[in-house]
Amino acid sequence: MTAHATVRGDVAVLVPAAGMGIRLGPGGPKALRLLGGEPLLVHAVRRLALAPSVGCIVVAAPADAVDDVAALLEPVAPVTVVAGGATRQASVAAALAVVPPSFEIVLVHDAARALTPPELVESVAEAVRGGHGAVIPVLPVVDTIKRVADSGIVVETVERSPLRAVQTPQGFRRDVLVKAHEAAVDEHTDDAGMAERIGIEVYTVPGADAAMKITRPFDLAVAELLL
Ligand code: C5P
Repeated sequence: MTAHATVRGDVAVLVPAAGMGIRLGPGGPKALRLLGGEPLLVHAVRRLALAPSVGCIVVAAPADAVDDVAALLEPVAPVTVVAGGATRQASVAAALAVVPPSFEIVLVHDAARALTPPELVESVAEAVRGGHGAVIPVLPVVDTIKRVADSGIVVETVERSPLRAVQTPQGFRRDVLVKAHEAAVDEHTDDAGMAERIGIEVYTVPGADAAMKITRPFDLAVAELLL
């Protein structure tokens, strides 16, 4: 299967949405949890489709929910839905496999960052277009960070100024993302980590508060307020 290139731009976006979202408590796949009466995934895809650069969206859904997710997204935007894998990485690889060859820029965006503004999608895409092989949106870390042993005792305080919290969408030249996935032997929590592993320079652009990851019930409450 090859995804349809139905929206306007030169960028394909992969949306891993096959996780169970255990940390959000019981209630089914996280991407399908409701925020303001609509599933997180609907919010995420709607905002992606509003970004002028986006020409193709591929969603990796829980294997037993592919048809339901396709039906859910049909009125939102032209989207291809594939079955995700056992890990986020496997879900991204499954989505990447169906991107039409014409797309040289591929973004990976977590459905859990449901309120990500289209402007952030544009700024990541623009940086890839400008020549960077891998691009991530980041925010400064506001809390003091300490390394803590299993015993609960503090080992050290980490220098905060060079630290950044990393968001999605993460953007890649397609060949970089393909190579990074081919080379990955262990599990990574983001795709840029895989690119780093094969020696690719990863460029940062300013992230957005609204691109927060909805992981715990508290995050869902904050997102409701933002809506
Ligand atoms: O578990 P975590 O919050 O890190 O998941 C990040 C994103 O990866 C979520 O959007 C989730 O749906 C997706 N995911 C996936 N396939 C998995 C596990 C997570 O698509 N097997």
